[in-house]
Amino acid sequence: MHVDFYGHVRQYHNIKSEIDANIQEVLESGKYVMGPMLARFEKELAEYFGMKHAIGVNSGTDALWLAFLALGIGPGDECITTANTFFATAEAIWFTGATAVFVDTDPRTNNIDPSKIEAAITEKTKAIVPVHLYGQCADMKAIRKIADKYNLYVIEDNAQAIGAHGDGFKIGELSDAVCTSFIIQKNLGTFGDGGAVITNRDDVDITVRKLRNHGSLKRSYHSPGFNSRLDDIHAGVLSAKLKHIDEWNDLRRKWAARYTAGLQEAESIVLPYEAPGYRHVYHLYVIETRRLGDRDKLLSFLNENGIDAKTHYPIAIHQQEGYPWDKSARIVGPLTNTERNAANCISLPMYPELTEEEVGYVIEKVLEWDRANA
Ligand SMILES: *Cc1c(COP(=O)(O)O)cnc(C)c1O
Repeated sequence: MHVDFYGHVRQYHNIKSEIDANIQEVLESGKYVMGPMLARFEKELAEYFGMKHAIGVNSGTDALWLAFLALGIGPGDECITTANTFFATAEAIWFTGATAVFVDTDPRTNNIDPSKIEAAITEKTKAIVPVHLYGQCADMKAIRKIADKYNLYVIEDNAQAIGAHGDGFKIGELSDAVCTSFIIQKNLGTFGDGGAVITNRDDVDITVRKLRNHGSLKRSYHSPGFNSRLDDIHAGVLSAKLKHIDEWNDLRRKWAARYTAGLQEAESIVLPYEAPGYRHVYHLYVIETRRLGDRDKLLSFLNENGIDAKTHYPIAIHQQEGYPWDKSARIVGPLTNTERNAANCISLPMYPELTEEEVGYVIEKVLEWDRANA
């Protein structure tokens, strides 16, 4: 049996007529850049978040970068985040000229540990950038309290958690801006790259709209900006898919529950933790091996048995070759939990289009390895 890591083509086939219809509509309209399909998707996306504005851009990385710029973050500033994330979170901070300051994660959720943030704050700190890792929200209530106390911005890296919520809070409710990614492998993904900034702030909305389109809101009038637009064909794909996101996230949760029930007995691994009251949308289902050195063995065993398991993220950002890239980079450490997760993480196949047989097979193989190695 072979179990793929992604279900992109299955997903396309499941709603082919809806996606094709939207693409056709764009093709026939002759309006492919900043056209009506983009405007429609932006409106739908803002409504989905229950927020005022959504601005389509050409990647999640650009969404972060442009949101930072819109809030005035730049050289000399520091943003507090974690090193256990996709590289782009810190990369976007660095690209504004500011510095990413890393604090450790919570050992159970792998999200930023709010109790570590205050020790990292200096007069240069401008923002906290929580990542809703693997599809579960960071503790935004605790983060908001700290941000209020020190007058900091909060920008949510929501690339992995569209459709999630916390215990008594929604994404976007407690921050200045939410940044999301639509690259194909995300829970809401297009056939290529895309991203969006979602915000209730009118000033962020206007500035990001300008920055993504050569500093222009009106033809021929410019101030320095960039070209970072979400193409209308992608907006059409995303508009069709957005209608299914809640149902797809429910399926992810169903498969996660199956894995968690089926793997209870496995002594050599730790299963993902779902914080009470939170809706985890399982962008990734990440287990950890308990014994250092086991990860690569289990990963090879799964791969050899046709299971396309992967690792997210085996090299934390501060462990990348060449770190630190600027001399003001700081770690307020130790980053014990970050490093433990990097060393031990394995992502099992997780997407709505999995089947009972596939999930059952993955469980069987993990248990088989566990019995031989526990
Ligand atoms: C995917 C991702 C990004 C970057 O999004 P792109 O669309 O690939 O640029 C940023 N942060 C996190 C946590 C991600 O998972």
